[in-house]
Amino acid sequence: MAEPASGASRQLRRAANRVRRREIEAVLQFGIPATQDIAPTVALTRHLIEILSRTDDPHRASASAGIAQSVFEISLRRHPGPHAVACQKGCAHCCNNFVSASVPEILALAHVVRALWPSAEAPIRVRIDSVSARDFAAADRTGLTLPCPILEGGACSAYAARPLVCRGFASVSLDACIRSLDDASVAIPNTRHRIHYRTQSAMALWAALKSLGLSYASYDLHHAVRVAVAYPDAEAEWLSGRAVFAEVQMDTSRKPELETFVDQLIANAGA
Ligand code: SF4
Ligand code: SF4
Repeated sequence: MAEPASGASRQLRRAANRVRRREIEAVLQFGIPATQDIAPTVALTRHLIEILSRTDDPHRASASAGIAQSVFEISLRRHPGPHAVACQKGCAHCCNNFVSASVPEILALAHVVRALWPSAEAPIRVRIDSVSARDFAAADRTGLTLPCPILEGGACSAYAARPLVCRGFASVSLDACIRSLDDASVAIPNTRHRIHYRTQSAMALWAALKSLGLSYASYDLHHAVRVAVAYPDAEAEWLSGRAVFAEVQMDTSRKPELETFVDQLIANAGA
């Protein structure tokens, strides 16, 4: 009697796996909807867990970031939302703010940045190296406005690899962006859709990292990129458990509800 039951459970498992595979294919192809349905985010979490579990791939961390960012872009293309943003190339006041990103995103950005300089004298290399000269106490960093070292001529020189926080930061009012640099109380009128896609993509990445026991902390992007580009093997070292970013300020401003959402994604992903 045990044999048929085990055969039936195998069939059920195979059917469930087929459904999960279709859900993953759908989120990779169509992105995240502009609704509160978390099923696509759960599917993305499962896929990122698969990617991060490929221990024979030394670039699995940066690859997972690339997938989360790609899902953000697909989602935004399909449902851009009703509001026109004021953002355009050459407008980069927001790139003077404190920006933090998870380690996979920092590593993905560092790979692109490292490929950008032909010599140690290249302007981007000089700017990134100079970040070390402006290290400051962690408590003082958040309020400071400093240009991102990746900014060149008013544009992001690694645009295709910019982290989710930059992708999701858009404004319908340039005036508010400029005023906010001197007055932290000025709210940036953002667009709901963009924030939604950014949150869902980033939380899926955090959940995948957390479920595998990897750090899902976010770090000061400017300083972290300098640390990452200084070590050609930063990704392998971080994946092996080395505290590569121990000297970089960690972003401690996360909202508790995001942590709750991460745990909800892990539970729903069955991880
Ligand atoms: S968020 Fe504001 S400062 Fe940044 S590109 Fe858009 S309008 Fe310009
Ligand atoms: S990574 Fe690019 S988009 Fe993000 S803050 Fe730096 S220059 Fe701006």
